[in-house]
Amino acid sequence: MSSADPQVETVVDLDAIAHNVRVLAGHAGDAAVMVVVKADGYNHGAVRVGQAALAAGASELGVTTIAEALRLRAGGITAPILSWLNTSDADYAAAIAADIEIGVSSVAHLRAVERAARATGTTATVSLKVDTGLNRNGVSDAEYPQVLTVLRGLVDERVVRLRAIFSHLARADEPQHPAIDVQRDRFLDAIAAAKDHGMQPELVHLANSAATLTRPDLAFDMVRPGIAAYGLSPIPEISDFGLRPAMTFRARVTLVKHVAAGEGVSYGHEWIAPHATTVALIPAGYADGVFRPLGGRIAVGIGDALYPNIGRVCMDQLVVDLGDNAAGVREGDSAVLFGPGALHPQRWADLLGTIHYEIVCSPRGRVVRRYLGDIAQRGGA
Ligand SMILES: *Cc1c(COP(=O)(O)O)cnc(C)c1O
Repeated sequence: MSSADPQVETVVDLDAIAHNVRVLAGHAGDAAVMVVVKADGYNHGAVRVGQAALAAGASELGVTTIAEALRLRAGGITAPILSWLNTSDADYAAAIAADIEIGVSSVAHLRAVERAARATGTTATVSLKVDTGLNRNGVSDAEYPQVLTVLRGLVDERVVRLRAIFSHLARADEPQHPAIDVQRDRFLDAIAAAKDHGMQPELVHLANSAATLTRPDLAFDMVRPGIAAYGLSPIPEISDFGLRPAMTFRARVTLVKHVAAGEGVSYGHEWIAPHATTVALIPAGYADGVFRPLGGRIAVGIGDALYPNIGRVCMDQLVVDLGDNAAGVREGDSAVLFGPGALHPQRWADLLGTIHYEIVCSPRGRVVRRYLGDIAQRGGA
């Protein structure tokens, strides 16, 4: 690393993203692939991930908010984009103007889209999100007949075009769980009910990463993976499915020093040197996404070796024990917090009682993002 490198960074391998999208497309069969790039591409960078995914064979992108969708358009992405989590006072006119497909979950959402479409004189592209048992986002059973009636009128008037009907699974990471089949059956019923109302969606989709990789029977017209595109297995206890983690979280050693036997290290002196040793200071702390409860429980990769973190994780820094520092670790060396060559994000997740989704979403604040890979080179990174 050169002196121009940031002290703490995430490095995102866009070739890994492309590889993962090809793996997912292989499982999807004839179905198209929408890669989910919400939350700034699971904190990998939505625009660059989106470009890499589309170049690797994905045909659409999915996000939660309209603001996220507009940022993709501003980044030059012209592929179809679906946005599915917005309040009724969201800027639907902006979404329609940018040709964003709007997911609706209620009559109120649909009426808001209608007002924007009439005001702008442009047909809005809508996808109906139906709640089949997650009981979160999506049209409820109770409201569904009314939504279909209102939608039918708007489709007839060409105020709205019905692109898709879709839903989301609650227990896809338990591939044999009967709840999945209950949701599939309700999904099929919802599609049939739309047909009874004289409407035929252009496509239907249900599968997230876990279902894409384990339930090919649920691929329908399109799959909608997120986490697997970033190289993390949605069901780590079953398999890694040949996915390649795209994110490396790393920092540069800022100081190497000797610590005498009996000296305490970091706040509270929770670690006392049992003998004279050498320590390295890593400029990443809980403000950067290194969770404080990890203190004393993780290891950091420097060169070919893993060195244990000692003492508390602070806001801006943590300390690792180099022992006699036989490898000659020096200021400026790269120290990998998680990623290839060091701990897997799943290890952090296990230590924290969470899932790796939350781990890759955590680097923030001072952390600078950088891109790697042939796609990144061609993109001018
Ligand atoms: C986040 C999300 C996905 C992707 O889920 P993964 O488990 O990351 O594959 C798909 N569909 C919807 C509606 C989502 O909210």
